[in-house]
Amino acid sequence: MRVFTFDTTLRDGTQGESVNFSSDDKLLIARKLDELGIDYIEGGWPGSNMKDKDFFTRARDLKLNHARLVAFGATRFAKKKVEEDSSVQALVEAGTPVVSIFGKSWDLHTRRALGVTEEENLQLISETVKYLKDHGKEVVYDAEHFFDGYLGNRDFALRTLEAAKKAGADVLVLCDTNGGTMTGRLAAICADVRKRFDGVLGIHTHNDAELAVANTLAAVEQGFAHVQGCMNGYGERCGNANLTTIIASLELKLDHTTIGKERLANLSTVARFVAELANLPLRGDQAYVGHSAFAHKGGVHVSAVIKDAATYEHINPKAVGNRQRVLLSDLSGRGSILYKLKQHGLEERLDDAARRELLDRIKQMEFQGYELEAAEGSFELLVREALNPGMQLFEVLNYEATTKSDGSTATVTLRAEEGVHSATASGNGPVHALDVCLRKCLSTLYPAIAEVRLTDYKVRVLDAKKGTAARVRVLVEWTDQRRSWSTVGVSENVIEASWYALVDALRLELMRLSEKDPTIERVVEDYCWGV
Ligand SMILES: [Zn+2]
Repeated sequence: MRVFTFDTTLRDGTQGESVNFSSDDKLLIARKLDELGIDYIEGGWPGSNMKDKDFFTRARDLKLNHARLVAFGATRFAKKKVEEDSSVQALVEAGTPVVSIFGKSWDLHTRRALGVTEEENLQLISETVKYLKDHGKEVVYDAEHFFDGYLGNRDFALRTLEAAKKAGADVLVLCDTNGGTMTGRLAAICADVRKRFDGVLGIHTHNDAELAVANTLAAVEQGFAHVQGCMNGYGERCGNANLTTIIASLELKLDHTTIGKERLANLSTVARFVAELANLPLRGDQAYVGHSAFAHKGGVHVSAVIKDAATYEHINPKAVGNRQRVLLSDLSGRGSILYKLKQHGLEERLDDAARRELLDRIKQMEFQGYELEAAEGSFELLVREALNPGMQLFEVLNYEATTKSDGSTATVTLRAEEGVHSATASGNGPVHALDVCLRKCLSTLYPAIAEVRLTDYKVRVLDAKKGTAARVRVLVEWTDQRRSWSTVGVSENVIEASWYALVDALRLELMRLSEKDPTIERVVEDYCWGV
């Protein structure tokens, strides 16, 4: 069955406590969703705030190839005529081909929240739908609180749908607004509605009982062909139904067509893009698209997936644009390290003893608190050192850093190319001063080192209970214009930990310059992605 996708990340999604998008973000996301093949993009509620109104004004210039833009609103105010209701007018003026309006299905809400009779409510629904239809809009009718309403007063709930349908609504959407309906019950209600209404029926669920995706899929199994949700499950309280998961499940598990198999391969990229603009990390354990969705850590799992991925993977990760990751961890044992090397085409370059030594070094470092999974630069350096025993490039003879109230200075002495080089410099802080010294010493021999820039610096306390004597892990991110990587250092002394990370990063760059093996380059890019 062709199932239509209706994304409400830009409307319901922004109701999420930590989700905020500027108009620029919204336009970028709309374009991305269009590329992904989403059918409807709900952009906001123009009648409720200026920001959303502004979005629709700017969206007039937005060229969408496939998706239809939707403006959201409510049935008219009880005390106003539909043509005099400013928020209904705002819907018309938004200039979108589609509008979605919500109306009350629950008699409790009708009486308590709106303060109107049931008959009056039916009138609000039908007049608003008809008015919008008369203005040439495709109308998606959202039956708010439908499932609670149905359980409270089935007859009334069904009559609200009838009112919308008769007035010309193109899609009737049943909403589990409070998100607490159990799947079996929801499916039975959907089946009852399906029997009574022709045409496209839709489902809009919230995740308060962690069933939003399951409930959406259950409705589709009852013949509902319009699914609403948000990318990454953003939304009020516990979120809306996660449209990312719904799309993957409909396509890959239930044999329905949404965005199509080809575009499905962009799903992970779009999920990350939206998370990026929301300034939220994409949840690692998010189904299908999360960083950890196909990550294997346990030794037994790892040796099995190396033989056959299907042993521990429910789909081929490539289908959704994700990938398998084998984590370097003391839990995963030797299998995963060898796998990594094999995957990177480096296995043959190491003899048995070198392999064992590399493994021992990694284990030792992880025991000390290094986290190589997050520091691919440090991992790459280990591999390069194992591949090129004896290639030191430089040796640190001494370093020191002092900080006073008026600034920091540092001195570094090292041996490189059979000469001793020393530099003293001041900096914003001791780490900066050390970084400047290190570059001064190396830049005459290796001018390309000037390209390497520090972009981020994070410190994590490893055993907080020990107070100031606790070990810290310093993670530093770098770029040389072409790529970025991280290095890590661990020590009880934050300057020393930072120093290790600094030295590793520059040593790595020099090793890269002296051995420009394209295989290793590819390996690194591949590995970087996985981190
Ligand atoms: Zn909602």
